[in-house]
Amino acid sequence: MSKLALNGGEKIRTKKFPPYLPIGKEEFGLVKEVFKSAIFSRFLGCWHDDFFGGPQVQALEKEWADFFGVKHAISVNSATSALYCAVGAIGTEPADEIIVSPYTMSASATAPLIYGAIPVFADVEKDCYCLDAKDVEKKITDRTRAIIVVDIMGQPYDPKIDEIAKKHNIKIIEDCAQAPYAKRGNKFAGTLGDIGIYSLNYHKHIHSGEGGIIVTNDDEIANRLRLIRNHAEAVIEAKGDKNLINMVGFNYRMTEIEASIARAQLKKLPKLIAQRDKNIKYLEEGLSKIPCLKMPKVRENCTHVYYQHGILFDSDVAGIHRDKFIEAVKAELMPIKLRETEGIKIGGGYVKPLYLSPMFQNKIAFGSKGYPWSASDREYDYSKGICPNVERLHYETLINHEYIRPGMKKKDLDDVIAAFRKVWENIDELR
Ligand SMILES: *Cc1c(COP(=O)(O)O)cnc(C)c1O
Repeated sequence: MSKLALNGGEKIRTKKFPPYLPIGKEEFGLVKEVFKSAIFSRFLGCWHDDFFGGPQVQALEKEWADFFGVKHAISVNSATSALYCAVGAIGTEPADEIIVSPYTMSASATAPLIYGAIPVFADVEKDCYCLDAKDVEKKITDRTRAIIVVDIMGQPYDPKIDEIAKKHNIKIIEDCAQAPYAKRGNKFAGTLGDIGIYSLNYHKHIHSGEGGIIVTNDDEIANRLRLIRNHAEAVIEAKGDKNLINMVGFNYRMTEIEASIARAQLKKLPKLIAQRDKNIKYLEEGLSKIPCLKMPKVRENCTHVYYQHGILFDSDVAGIHRDKFIEAVKAELMPIKLRETEGIKIGGGYVKPLYLSPMFQNKIAFGSKGYPWSASDREYDYSKGICPNVERLHYETLINHEYIRPGMKKKDLDDVIAAFRKVWENIDELR
């Protein structure tokens, strides 16, 4: 008789895992104050005191900058908007090249397109999954304007990329959406490059529903970020700014309600990360005893805040494909559809390597004639095989899950470990 749930055996667990709900009375208290004031936003898109937003927005920005030890923090309505602002603020020109990662949320690779620049993909590291410094250096040309590094799954990018950027005089935009509170040495992730961005969307370590924060120590860049956030073209004349490059503004402003929630969330960040850290230690202790699994590497001199946990699967040891293994683990636990309210994500790989998406495959982004690629006299290759590490991770070796989330208790973690272990112990059923 078969033991594995996939083959009709009994499941390890038939109960849902606890939901991840970091919002509580602290957030509600601040939101109530905003309601009482009836001012849900105080931004004005002209040169005026209110160009900088209302009291909650300004308090959040001050608290964020102090917390992360950086000169300027600028709130926006999403990390996607934050990336767009960053690409604009560094003065990106059409047909410039920006080096991006293929293994990240799509916006970190599409942001260059907004300013007519060309995303150039470099491969990721086999063990840390962030941009690979050697491949980044190979991709640099006389047109490279910036590198968008991503602290993927919760750990800071390779410091060698800082040296490369310095040597070639190009900017680093650090996408820290998945790594708030991670550290390299005594500096926080997000503050390692020229501009850092954080996300406050519902899925992240801390959230305000939607939201993003941009940080920088550069006064001029900070000024340009604030202008792009809030109708630059209508502001600069009265403000007295002369530099017109990329001063087409947007409305990327955060509301007072989101800002108040984010303020309470920021205070909880250390505690929420500590819970993830405790969970990961316990999980890794159990999972690392399974011979076909290898726990992810934490970069030297860095801490990891485990937005997700990327385990490497060895199919030679297991004698089956990763996808079969995951299918069997999933069958031992409760099936999920809605990620936040019903359960927790586990799957093979992370996102499909971004260059394989229809937009890059067809080079159709704005209009029908291939802009911005058509604005360049160079050819760009997005074919399968350009980043072998990411393709191998995605299709063969990476198992990615979120069972480290705060709210998971010892019993819940024991069930996860038991599900993996049961599949390993009965792997002959799958061979
Ligand atoms: C979530 C995420 C984003 C986008 O965040 P939004 O606030 O939803 O726009 C960008 N980059 C990475 C790596 C992310 O994980």
